[in-house]
Amino acid sequence: MAHYKCNCTFVPPRVLENLARVGVGSARLSIQQSNISRKKRAAKEIDMKAFIGAKTKAKAKRKVYDCKNTWEQRVKLARAEGKPATGDEDVDLVYKYAGNVRDYFSKVLKRNSIDNKGMDLILNVHFGQDYMNAFWDGDEMTFGDGDGEIFISFTKSLEVVAHELAHGVTQFTADLEYFSQSGALNEHFSDVFGSAITQHVLKQDAGQADWLVGDEIMGPDLYGESLRSMQAPGTAYDNNLLGKDPQPAHMNDYYAGSDDNQGVHINSGIPNRAFYLVATEIGTDKATLIWYHALQKLWSTAKFNDAVDVIVNSARLLTQKKQVPVGSTQQVRAAFRDVGLPHLT
Ligand SMILES: [Zn+2]
Repeated sequence: MAHYKCNCTFVPPRVLENLARVGVGSARLSIQQSNISRKKRAAKEIDMKAFIGAKTKAKAKRKVYDCKNTWEQRVKLARAEGKPATGDEDVDLVYKYAGNVRDYFSKVLKRNSIDNKGMDLILNVHFGQDYMNAFWDGDEMTFGDGDGEIFISFTKSLEVVAHELAHGVTQFTADLEYFSQSGALNEHFSDVFGSAITQHVLKQDAGQADWLVGDEIMGPDLYGESLRSMQAPGTAYDNNLLGKDPQPAHMNDYYAGSDDNQGVHINSGIPNRAFYLVATEIGTDKATLIWYHALQKLWSTAKFNDAVDVIVNSARLLTQKKQVPVGSTQQVRAAFRDVGLPHLT
């Protein structure tokens, strides 16, 4: 079976397709550029062996590149680790947010950057023209400026940066195939870390958080909408530009079609809702510890039922180590049951 690599764009293809359908030209261009980037990703085939042999460094360094509104990555180094602010808001924001993510991995998860060996964080900003997306393509992150009307710059959201860098962590751990249920789990873990890191930095608890994904990058035409809701999947948006949020919140509404790599950004709503339920019971950081433990035990073709088994087991082991509260195992089991998991066929 072919291995479906994650060319993990933040905005799901279906959303951009809906925008192109109603005549938004920059959405059409963004789809084309994402396809080019996907081909580049396939051609580049990140050599995991090189990473395996890599020496461990004490701390990841950030390198922010300005693409100068071309469709090329790493055009000009704009800010290296430890250098002062540049005055370019996108460069400086992405530098700060990548630092937030690196520090969360290190302090909360005890993980040394994306590969756990101190891998540098390469960030590209001002990619393309009016480019409506951000993506992780195997060894670096890239951000578009948006068109300023529907989407603003993708650097404006810590959650976008955390979501995309988390795809890197998944690549170096479970390496979940970006297709069907394993792909939906890949998306799910990125939403979990994106939300957890945002809450941690904002010092919010699960009850204060908005649990929305992508709300910070909505431009004036769509202000108040978002791309996903982990609390209430299916309610994130409903308008004539984006269409209607297709995410199910329960296995009863599972999407079995072929769009979106068989629903990687769609069915992720089901485990997302389960995570939300657990976080509201034991706190987001504790829930994230369980999920992160499980991510290191999962495998590339894991399905939803596998994830339930592994996450429940991680809850049990971390309860035994007194890293999460007594009762966490039962909370995890109950949350998955609430969304129809494990699913009996
Ligand atoms: Zn993603």
